[in-house]
Amino acid sequence: MPSAHYQALAVEPQASDDNDNDEEELVVHWAANLQPSSSSHNHARYHKQLATSSGWEDRLPTPGRGMAPRLSRRRYWMLLVVPLFIVCYFVFSSPLLLGQAGGDGDDDDANNFEPHNGIDGTTAHALNEPLLICSDSSDDHRLYIQDKPRIAYAQLPIIYFVTPTYPRREQIPELTRLAYTLLHVPRLHWLVANDQEKCDTFLDTLLSGFGIPFTHMASPMPSKFRKSKPAPRGVANRRAALLWLQQHNLTNGVLYFGDDDNTYDLRLFSEIRQTQRVSMFPVGLIADYAVSGPVVRDGKVVAFLDSWVAGRRWPVDMAGFAVNLAYMSQYPNVNMPYKPGYEEDLFLRSIGLRIDQIEPRGNNCTDILVWHTQTKSKKSPVVNVESKYLDGRSNLGPLFRSLKLMGVASASDTAGHAAVISKNGKGRSHSYFLS
Ligand code: UDP
Ligand code: MN
Repeated sequence: MPSAHYQALAVEPQASDDNDNDEEELVVHWAANLQPSSSSHNHARYHKQLATSSGWEDRLPTPGRGMAPRLSRRRYWMLLVVPLFIVCYFVFSSPLLLGQAGGDGDDDDANNFEPHNGIDGTTAHALNEPLLICSDSSDDHRLYIQDKPRIAYAQLPIIYFVTPTYPRREQIPELTRLAYTLLHVPRLHWLVANDQEKCDTFLDTLLSGFGIPFTHMASPMPSKFRKSKPAPRGVANRRAALLWLQQHNLTNGVLYFGDDDNTYDLRLFSEIRQTQRVSMFPVGLIADYAVSGPVVRDGKVVAFLDSWVAGRRWPVDMAGFAVNLAYMSQYPNVNMPYKPGYEEDLFLRSIGLRIDQIEPRGNNCTDILVWHTQTKSKKSPVVNVESKYLDGRSNLGPLFRSLKLMGVASASDTAGHAAVISKNGKGRSHSYFLS
């Protein structure tokens, strides 16, 4: 998603500075001390979120300040802090709130979840929607990939390529073009998440025909967001894919979010396949600079070039990074909230990314291996052809039935563009050719 397009966002979280990571460390230690039994990193993170999102540490009175003189320091802790901690523990451990604290819990995140463009705080709830799987296949039917037998690639980590898609007249052409790119990529599982309520049987057939291992799921955008401007495009879809990865306990391989309308260089796949934590690379054709991506010095990511910062710590496009699943699985609160423009940022915050961990790819971020191409979108037309001519006497019957199934065009007896059928440069009545 090109976050950079959402110039009109009203709430802009404060940009964090370079000290953020240091501050995070401090709070993690503070929380870990409070709860010695919480040994895991994530548990500590959770308490850190608790502490920071509620502003707790600021509100802790120091002994001698705002405290009855007779209370000993120890009693003070017993009477105030411990009960408060227990209450907050239960309140904040609800899945809803955990979801809201999907970021790394500093003040920026608190801002990020404020009501915004009609999208309220509940938009960030945990990944717990029902998951509707339409069809899937783990079989790879390709004999040869890039001139080598499939078996030659057996040791490579799998790339989980997540494609949000939605019904419109360009859907099938987009997915077809993308499929013919992915056919060249070994060890890839294509997660196609369609933004509609029901399974589309046409898509089932199309996807299984390519021979690429795939999972097709129906993941509609919640109806309350449909009318929002901007709408969280592709978010329900990506959330469904994240849930699928979680449910399958996949801790091996690499996750990549690849929209259906982008253009992918085959070298991208070799670049992201060895991602250890999070790799990043520039995306072409993003917003005002026609590019978005990391700034790299001495082989390290030091900053970001993107024309729409808006307080984002990670001002990158959805197509500009890949994530290792072993790394991601350490963050059970991984999330992608319904917050247009901030999806990448909040997702990357939810997996605790630090700038020094980012692996620059594509010749130290000098190559463009993915393009944010956009296809012109138009309404599906109605074509005026009498149904009596859409029988088996010509190809037109099956052709229009197929176009209808693909959402490209439909035929009508009474309405729409008059269908001109011609020969030798001359249009004639339908009956002339078809009766
Ligand atoms: N998308 C979707 N539902 C929508 C609109 C978009 O699932 O209502 C998908 C779309 O197929 C694409 C991704 O979300 O894979 C991003 O949408 P789009 O390409 O329209 O946005 P862009 O990033 O180009 O602005
Ligand atoms: Mn797009």
